[in-house]
Amino acid sequence: MASTSIRQKHFKVAVVGGGAGGLAIASHFSEKLGKGAVGVIEPSTNHYYQPGWTLVGGDLMDFNKTVRRTSDVMPINAEWVHDAAATFAPEANSLTTAKGDTITYDYLVLAAGFQINWDAIKGLKDALGKNGVTSNYHADHCKYTAKAMNEFAGGHAVFTQPNMPIKCAGAPQKVMYIFEDTMRRNGLRDKTTVTFMQGMPSIFAIQKYAKALTEQCQERDINVNFRHVLTEVKADTKEAVFKAGEKEVTVKYDFLHVTPQMGAPDCIRNSPLAAENGMANVDKETMQHLTFPNVFAIGDCANLPTSKTAAAVAAEAPVVKANMEAVMRQANPTAKYDGYASCPLVISRDRLILAEFSAYTGQPMETLFLDQSIPRESLFFLKAEVMPDLYWDALLKGHWNGPSNVRKILNPFNA
Ligand SMILES: Cc1cc2nc3c(=O)[nH]c(=O)nc-3n(C[C@H](O)[C@H](O)[C@H](O)COP(=O)(O)OP(=O)(O)OC[C@H]3O[C@@H](n4cnc5c(N)ncnc54)[C@H](O)[C@@H]3O)c2cc1C
Repeated sequence: MASTSIRQKHFKVAVVGGGAGGLAIASHFSEKLGKGAVGVIEPSTNHYYQPGWTLVGGDLMDFNKTVRRTSDVMPINAEWVHDAAATFAPEANSLTTAKGDTITYDYLVLAAGFQINWDAIKGLKDALGKNGVTSNYHADHCKYTAKAMNEFAGGHAVFTQPNMPIKCAGAPQKVMYIFEDTMRRNGLRDKTTVTFMQGMPSIFAIQKYAKALTEQCQERDINVNFRHVLTEVKADTKEAVFKAGEKEVTVKYDFLHVTPQMGAPDCIRNSPLAAENGMANVDKETMQHLTFPNVFAIGDCANLPTSKTAAAVAAEAPVVKANMEAVMRQANPTAKYDGYASCPLVISRDRLILAEFSAYTGQPMETLFLDQSIPRESLFFLKAEVMPDLYWDALLKGHWNGPSNVRKILNPFNA
């Protein structure tokens, strides 16, 4: 149950955002500190397992498996403040909510994720959800991706990715590989042109997986254009307009999957807690705020030069927990996040490349004793059947800290 009108309330630990990172931290501290000590400020009545939306868009997972009521996932000892954080006054250990209530805290955890800026691309908002224009980055539209894919009868399928930052940098192309494979299986590949318009200068940041993905595109006749950023969707003429350096490039489409622009939430961007880029200004290793030592951040909204994924959240969580506990007992925060992130790159309707790496070193950190850059059915099984349970039953409950201990056993030379 969410708390009703509160006007003013104090929590020992206030968590802003009840997504992957927020609940991982809230679960831990509410279990440790007892009832009422932890408040979670979260405006949404639903909690989404966003990594599942790639499979929903591919008609490979039921959407209902990606959504639960916030009240059902809230840790039992935590208090849900059903509201959005609006402003922060960290020098007074206080924040206000959108409804105008004031919350004070001893410790603050910023976990508000990324804000998607649907208006940043002209014409996109009105075009979405009909006539073949879709996005797996939206709870409603990921279902439409599957519908539009199944109704596609041939033509030009275009997939876009903006410049960083985005969450799950692999998702803009996973949808494309599933789509391409589906056309092959439906006997429509000869009638279909597949194009990836990538805002970045390379297909993936980590070389080992970039090589594997480039091979996929070459073998499967997928056109790839780098440094092309979508600026406008002209739904009436079915044209997508891109900025490519100084040039403007217009492309006709029959199916268009858009990865929208996104970044720090306004409430953090416009606060004293923000770094220059608008994200929460925390140390990239200790995840402690650089100005306010009782403030930590986790997940997409934290200014960490890592890959924004739930997998990264899992590896960040033990660092935040350990360092907050250190600060609570007046000790120095010594736990360090190593930049671990993972991206399950779905390459077809039943195979997957499992990218695992440190974004800080650029080196792979594979957990299994096999080459994870080779597409495998066993890795797809992990994504479709194992990872959702890991998310709901372990990460959100504060019990999944990433695979580093598993790696020490299964792949000790890579640990
Ligand atoms: C299509 C897609 C595919 C993905 N695939 C993968 C994948 O395969 N593997 C993977 O590891 N990751 C994947 N991700 C990324 C992953 O979902 C995110 O990186 C992860 O959820 C980040 O966790 P978070 O807690 O930072 O943010 P979120 O889980 O997004 O939670 C943020 C929460 O903050 C709340 N909030 C927003 N504004 C406010 C405010 N003002 N006040 C209070 N609360 C607020 C939101 O309602 C939300 O509940 C994918 C994401 C998408 C969209």
